[in-house]
This record gives sequence, structure tokens and C-alpha cells, in this order.
Amino acid sequence: MIRGAILLAIATIVGYLYAQYQVSSGILSRFEKNSMLTMHSIKGFVNVYIVKDPVSKQNILIDAGNSGDEELIANYLKEHQIEKLDAVHLTHGHGDHAGTVSNITQRFPDISVGCHKEEHSFLKSGQLFTPKPTIRLIKWLMPYILKYNIVKPPKAFDCGIIYSNASETHHGIKLYHTPGHSNGSVSFELPNGECIIGDLMGGGFLFANSPSWPLFYQDYEQIRQSVQFLLKETNCQVFYVGHGKPFDRPSLLQWLEENPTNPADL
Ligand SMILES: [Zn+2]
Ligand SMILES: [Zn+2]
Repeated sequence: MIRGAILLAIATIVGYLYAQYQVSSGILSRFEKNSMLTMHSIKGFVNVYIVKDPVSKQNILIDAGNSGDEELIANYLKEHQIEKLDAVHLTHGHGDHAGTVSNITQRFPDISVGCHKEEHSFLKSGQLFTPKPTIRLIKWLMPYILKYNIVKPPKAFDCGIIYSNASETHHGIKLYHTPGHSNGSVSFELPNGECIIGDLMGGGFLFANSPSWPLFYQDYEQIRQSVQFLLKETNCQVFYVGHGKPFDRPSLLQWLEENPTNPADL
């Protein structure tokens, strides 16, 4: 009982600190080639991004936040006069990234929803699939994270757009299959070299703007290969993540150099 209370207190503090170092809400960038095209971020438990293109009149949500973030997203849309969402594309299907999709599809019935085929099997049955923690603290906290519904399973929904393992373009945004954090994780490349990679890597915390291993993983070697793929095959210059602050290409190259071997399993 006391152990549970202590762990819950630690989880609350960690969660609070975690939330403090997400990307701030607001307009992140205006694209050089088209100054009206903007990328927004909504700060919650997880970073949610909106690519707003007034030329095509499309508003694309990339990741949909944790269950319970519905109001946060609705308020942001209202504040920034975004009346309609045309598509939601998911970097992966974990509950903290897909939690509001069923609510969003009710609100915008014409919206397109995209996810990778590997994640769709979980999402269409509303399951929470939990990968392996990369640090011991999270391993200890995991039963409590599940017990107290800190990350809830998303309500079941169908993805109308199902990504394959090949590179694809949807709503003008390129995506690549970048497994490792989960089997169906993908990364999105925007026209100005900004990329949204979900939880493929952890972002910077506190004063650091450097990448880190994500808090959960499916396969360390796949993470490394996916990172090398993005560096080699894309023009990604800045990497926006699901948790933490973004980092740039030189930081990622340095991280690879400083981490030549994969961590041991816990
Ligand atoms: Zn995840
Ligand atoms: Zn996440």
C-alpha cells in the first residue's frame, strides 16, 4: 500500500516534469516556400502537431494526443480559427498518440484517418499495446501507469488510410516506415525539412536539445536502423518528437556517434 503510494507520487512528479518540457503550444514554423503554410504544436502529455495549409485549405493533425486531451485540442482549434480538420495521421498507435481519434472522427465525420497496417490491428479493436520500458523506473511504474489509467487504451476506430512499409505521400506530406519504437511507427517529412518522428526517439529535456532513446521500445536495432534511414534517405533537418523538445540533424549524428551500441535489455 505504502509502496504503491510512493510509486504513484513518483509517477505524478515524473509526469509533471515530463509535461513541462513538451514543445510549447503555438505556431512552430512558417514555411519558407509558402509563408502561409504553418506547423502548430499543442502541448499536452504528448506533442500534437497541426500542419495548416491555407492554399489547399487542409488542416492535418499529426498524432491525436492522450485520451482526455479532447478539450485541449478543441480549444486550440477554436483559438486559432481552425474550423475543420481534414486528416489525422498517426506516427504510431500507442494510447497517448491515438487517444482522441474516435472523438475527432465524431466531430469531423469526413476526416481521413491514417495509420500503419501493423498498428491498425490494435487500433480497430481498441487495445492498448505496451512495448518494453527502456529504464528501470518506468518498468517499476508500469503496473501503476496501467492501473491508474495514465495512458488509456484508445476507443476502437478504423483507419481509412493504411500505410504499407513503403514510402508514401498523403495530403502533401511524405511518410516513411520507421519501426523500432513500435512495429508500425512512421515518420513524416514536411516540405521545409522539418520532420515529425513520434516516439522513434525521445526529445530534449530541461536545458538539453539532444535526442535520447525513447522511454519504450520494441527493438533497439530497428530504432538505430530507422534513424540511419532518415539521415540517409530524407532531407530531415529538424526532428520533432512525441515527448520532449526537437533536435537538429547534427545532434542526431552526434547521438549516433556517442551511442555505438544498443543498451542491454532490463
Ligand atoms: Zn509510443
Ligand atoms: Zn508517446
